Amino acid sequence: MTLSPPKTQTKQYSWPGLIEAYRHYLPVTESTPVITLYEGNTPLIPVPYIAAQIGRQVQVFVKYDGLNPTGSFKDRGMTLAISKAKQAGARAVVCASTGNTSASAAAYARRGGLRVFVLIPDGYVALGKLAQALLYGAEVLSIQGNFDQALNVVKQMAEQYPVTLVNSLNPFRLEGQKTAAFEVVDTLGNAPDWLCIPVGNAGNVTAYWMGFCQYHEAGNCDRLPRMMGFQAVGAAPIVTGKAVAHPDTVATAIRIGNPANWQRAIAVREASQGEFRAVTDAEILTAYQMLATQEGIFCEPASAASVAGLLKLKDQVPTGATVVCVLTGNGLKDPETAIQQPGQQFHKCIKPELTEVAQVLGF
Ligand SMILES: *Cc1c(COP(=O)(O)O)cnc(C)c1O
Repeated sequence: MTLSPPKTQTKQYSWPGLIEAYRHYLPVTESTPVITLYEGNTPLIPVPYIAAQIGRQVQVFVKYDGLNPTGSFKDRGMTLAISKAKQAGARAVVCASTGNTSASAAAYARRGGLRVFVLIPDGYVALGKLAQALLYGAEVLSIQGNFDQALNVVKQMAEQYPVTLVNSLNPFRLEGQKTAAFEVVDTLGNAPDWLCIPVGNAGNVTAYWMGFCQYHEAGNCDRLPRMMGFQAVGAAPIVTGKAVAHPDTVATAIRIGNPANWQRAIAVREASQGEFRAVTDAEILTAYQMLATQEGIFCEPASAASVAGLLKLKDQVPTGATVVCVLTGNGLKDPETAIQQPGQQFHKCIKPELTEVAQVLGF
């Protein structure tokens, strides 16, 4: 019998980050410098209260991608986009953003030692996201216009100057994001019947579909989900078939009037026999509060569009179906919207005395 030597090395992380975990399925080589914050491997959480709203033995899970390093699924695409930019010798990256892309780009670019420029629409970025971009060290330009206008500028900038675009037009973004579908299948043992997802630029819905199809071809699942995409009523160009000049919704992460991946999203809807529908801000906020108060899950408003959509279409869900709703971002991103919700129990100016505290609480 041989004795193993004492372990002096620090323990290896059990999860190596998504590029290492899914290297075989990603466009990386031995010479790709992997810039990672150990993103991915987010939980698939059962939501029994929401499932009970549907009944008929339907199982509902949320893919809580708000637990990624910068608090949104954007990290999945960014680890690959920044690694590939670095491999190609880039010194700087640029993006337009409703907030989460800028936070993620800033974190990964700085970790990779790159400069990062972000253009955000003036006044429409949730506070947490702006705080992140600034602290990570992005050079932030607030544009007097909306996201679509900011995207036009950064596209031109990437063509004319030595900077790499890391919006979802960058193909490596979608390649990285498709790993969320791999994780869903790895956890469930198969693809779900429905995949409900918020849609803004439609990069993520496209990426999930790529992931499910690739896993299906590899024999890791024997079916494909129907892709159910949800936009906000005030920003629903794919649903109505018409670009929206002045998109408007409380769900700022999907406040997009002219989606960059519009045609691909249509193709995904057709190929998966899915549906794209619009949900109102009121429906989004109801789902947002329901997730928090009934399930203990705090997501940002845009993320709740996936659950709002499922509840809206609940009569269409087949008996016994498995449904996954994607929660794209963390609720802490947007504390202002959280605090503004009605019906909260916040008692102010209470004296530090037991009698008064007990009385307010109804004892
Ligand atoms: C980016 C984002 C979306 C929209 O994703 P698309 O790929 O643009 O459709 C939805 N929710 C959150 C929280 C996001 O950050």
